[in-house]
Amino acid sequence: MAEIVIDTYRCSGCGTCVEMCPEVFRMDSMAEKAELVAVAPEITDPVYQAAAFCPEKCIEVKE
Ligand code: SF4
Repeated sequence: MAEIVIDTYRCSGCGTCVEMCPEVFRMDSMAEKAELVAVAPEITDPVYQAAAFCPEKCIEVKE
């Protein structure tokens, strides 16, 4: 099963992924790092686009 992994150490909290795919990504309670909305989100095209546009390249989609 595909899985999304966010390297929160490298995440700068820019919010790009949240803007591009709010169904899957949100900012944590401190608004500092991205996190997943759900444990096992559906892997849609916007997920791949958010990963591609992440400036820190810290979103990985594991097939
Ligand atoms: S786009 Fe990347 S660096 Fe920006 S908040 Fe999302 S995971 Fe973090």
